Amino acid sequence: MYIIMLFIYTILEVIYMSKNTLKNKVKCSVENCSYNEERACSAEALEVNSMTGKDKAHISDETCCTTFKDK
Ligand code: SF4
Repeated sequence: MYIIMLFIYTILEVIYMSKNTLKNKVKCSVENCSYNEERACSAEALEVNSMTGKDKAHISDETCCTTFKDK
């Protein structure tokens, strides 16, 4: 019985992990990015960097998604 419950739990966890992508978490309006699907990011991981030349930013305009890939 324990083995069956463990198997079911593992299957459910795999299904949950496969749905747990950035697509459900990051809204994005950059329509010409390859990762943009219906105004949401579908990339597996995201890299955002400061555009100030330093590792700090003070406003969002000083940040940039460097995962962007033109279609
Ligand atoms: S990679 Fe960056 S620019 Fe492209 S959809 Fe994701 S958040 Fe938007």
